[in-house]
Amino acid sequence: MHMEIHTNIPLKNYTTMKIGGNARFMTEARTPDDIQKVYRNAKSQNLPIFILGGGSNVIAKDEGFNGIVIRMRIPGFEVIADDINNAIIKIGAGEEWDSVVKRTVDMRLSGIETMSAIPGTAGAAPVQNVGAYNQEIADTLQSLEAYDSETDAFVTLRRDDCGFAYRDSIFRGKAKGRYVITSITIKLSKNQPAPPFYDSLQKYLDEHQIKIYTTDVIRDAVIEIRKNRLPDPDTVPNSGSFFKNAIVEKWQVDDLSNQYLDIPIFDLGDDKYKIPTGWLIEKAGLKGTISHGIRIFDRNALVLVNESAKSYSDLAAARDEIIGKIRDKFRVQIQQEPLEI
Ligand SMILES: Cc1cc2nc3c(=O)[nH]c(=O)nc-3n(C[C@H](O)[C@H](O)[C@H](O)COP(=O)(O)OP(=O)(O)OC[C@H]3O[C@@H](n4cnc5c(N)ncnc54)[C@H](O)[C@@H]3O)c2cc1C
Repeated sequence: MHMEIHTNIPLKNYTTMKIGGNARFMTEARTPDDIQKVYRNAKSQNLPIFILGGGSNVIAKDEGFNGIVIRMRIPGFEVIADDINNAIIKIGAGEEWDSVVKRTVDMRLSGIETMSAIPGTAGAAPVQNVGAYNQEIADTLQSLEAYDSETDAFVTLRRDDCGFAYRDSIFRGKAKGRYVITSITIKLSKNQPAPPFYDSLQKYLDEHQIKIYTTDVIRDAVIEIRKNRLPDPDTVPNSGSFFKNAIVEKWQVDDLSNQYLDIPIFDLGDDKYKIPTGWLIEKAGLKGTISHGIRIFDRNALVLVNESAKSYSDLAAARDEIIGKIRDKFRVQIQQEPLEI
């Protein structure tokens, strides 16, 4: 089938932060073959390629992208195995993630229900190992199919090939730009969800006297909690958590917990500790403040909201101010979560 190629398309219309310049070319892929075709053509013309899902974790630069942006639209939702305990489902990379969650919840399958209401596509989920409320895609992913742009071949990667870690994988690390994920295969359980749930989720369930935990009850609870903590990108431009939580070492933990008795610290093992970056930003007195048109969301300091910024450089200036203030106050280097095009 013929693929339409559009020229000079504003990336701000395709990214939830709503800033950035133009893509020189943009097209949509509806099959794995579409992907291969575009890569082969682009290679002969020496054009770079960027894969875009829902644009909810991508920041576009002001200079735009001098190449081809492929919007991932490959559909698919197929139960490929089903027994008394589990179901295995293969999902096209272009499916909307939350519709996938809803469908599995309606089938009373457990494994991704606390990842309800995360914007974006199914194919992007492995890229940063998406997660929320104690579930992450690495827990349920069995394998994925991808186009390997280095070898011009379609490959299957197993979970252990993906290098999953906290908000990380080979797809944004050492193999960044190499694979185009065309489908993911996840294994879900027929057991209903069971405690212990993530603190804030358990608190919500207790407060609402919910004692029977089914996938749809958990999904509804998560959606309610998230409504308060995260602005809706359809009406308020943002990219969700703009910073990763800080991962620090023992000496930093000792140093900080002497100074700040209330600092929350999570032991990750291997001499690594997690400190919620939202706490650091709040403690630095920055929550709710605005700079260069970018506001630190007043209900969740991890989120930056684009109130009136017109350009990437505004966002970068605001971001660098925040990073600098956190470094000066706590001697902790925080990192941006969304990738950049
Ligand atoms: C309000 C809000 C709340 C959010 N909450 C959460 C949360 O709770 N937990 C969480 O983990 N994230 C969260 N996010 C971040 C984001 O939703 C996820 O990272 C999501 O997986 C991004 O999907 P996307 O399709 O929009 O990807 P995009 O933003 O389009 O792309 C992200 C990156 O993945 C690459 N990519 C996309 N698709 C593919 C593919 N098929 N093959 C290879 N590479 C690909 C892109 O090139 C890019 O580098 C939130 C974002 C917002 C705006």
